[in-house]
Amino acid sequence: MMIPYGRHSLDAADIAAVVDTLQSDWLTTGAKVQEFEQAVAQLVSAREAVAVSNGTAGLHCALHAVGIQLGDEVILPPLTFVATANAVVMCGGVPVFADVDPETLLLDPQAVEDKVTPRTKAILAVDFAGQPCDYQTLRSIADRRDLVLIADACHSLGATLNGRPVGSLADLTIFSFHPVKAITTGEGGMIVTNHPEYAQRMRIFRNHGITSTLKEREAKQTWEYQMIRLGMNYRLTDFQCALGISQLNKLQEWVTRRQAHAAHYDKAWSSVPGIHPLRTRAGVSHAYHLYVIRVDQHVCGIDRGALFSLLRERGVGVQVHYIPVHLQPYYREEFGAGLGCCPHAESAYESILSLPIFPMLKNEEIDKVIGTIQDLVTHHDLVSAGVA
Ligand SMILES: *Cc1c(COP(=O)(O)O)cnc(C)c1O
Repeated sequence: MMIPYGRHSLDAADIAAVVDTLQSDWLTTGAKVQEFEQAVAQLVSAREAVAVSNGTAGLHCALHAVGIQLGDEVILPPLTFVATANAVVMCGGVPVFADVDPETLLLDPQAVEDKVTPRTKAILAVDFAGQPCDYQTLRSIADRRDLVLIADACHSLGATLNGRPVGSLADLTIFSFHPVKAITTGEGGMIVTNHPEYAQRMRIFRNHGITSTLKEREAKQTWEYQMIRLGMNYRLTDFQCALGISQLNKLQEWVTRRQAHAAHYDKAWSSVPGIHPLRTRAGVSHAYHLYVIRVDQHVCGIDRGALFSLLRERGVGVQVHYIPVHLQPYYREEFGAGLGCCPHAESAYESILSLPIFPMLKNEEIDKVIGTIQDLVTHHDLVSAGVA
């Protein structure tokens, strides 16, 4: 039995909520969508929320809403899932990779400043692992350079910075409800914003560029509708929103559990030479979507690749988040990206390892993960000789 790196939790109330909605008249674009949107908006102190079919669609909607088009540059970190950069390209924009801070692996505001050009339109920050970025500094850069500040918060629903929730820290914030994320709707996403005009553009974009929904037309007894821009079908179903509403009730408890698991891991590394957690900045309440360690091969005698394989052989489902996006063949070929553009991200990539973390992870499982790493590091000579 492999302990996975992430896993969703579902209970009887979640299942009942979905079944209830399946038995109603509206399977999609009914009352549950608005109810879920309002619940998330309230939770994160945002005025508006727009539910969409997944986090990637949310990124696309947000970049569309701020008007990213051909040739516009968007600055983002390379240590993220490919979808962050892909969404920029979907709008015709150019992803410009700025390096991360070597200790937190969050977008470094100074690196952002260095990459701003007259074509830059937005900063797209990523709350890597669930830790909010330095939004205070990013905000001041955005204001000074007249840029929109967008947060890819697919890792950080439930996190706060100086007491303020993620969702209230940028102009637009994107969440994902994929099963490994903080809460799930199967597939799903949401964008929150305080700007009604962005929200309006996103509602139209998720619905084919049409200004009214079927439900609104039914209420008005009319067949007429207007398509005013090109749009997508990025709608989220009512039964998925019913699941989201039910899951949201558990978010706070789950974040607290993730934080306790992280604290349990953190305590262990002082007695394991060469293994270090990432740094958490002051004022941060971390959502711990991921628990990431750095493996210092020169101290612990075993490299990240070997540790990855040996842990998996021993039933610990580790992962690596992420291969820097600018090293992917597509970005090398289409955008001339490659080694040397973001040295901190590139060197971090050689040593990072994501350990299992999810709300229902048991303390015995954490102890097994820690014990296995301890064992592999202690006996690395035997391991590399093929004896252990
Ligand atoms: C999960 C994730 C996405 C994409 O979300 P989906 O719902 O899977 O489309 C985007 N950015 C980051 C950082 C993610 O972790």
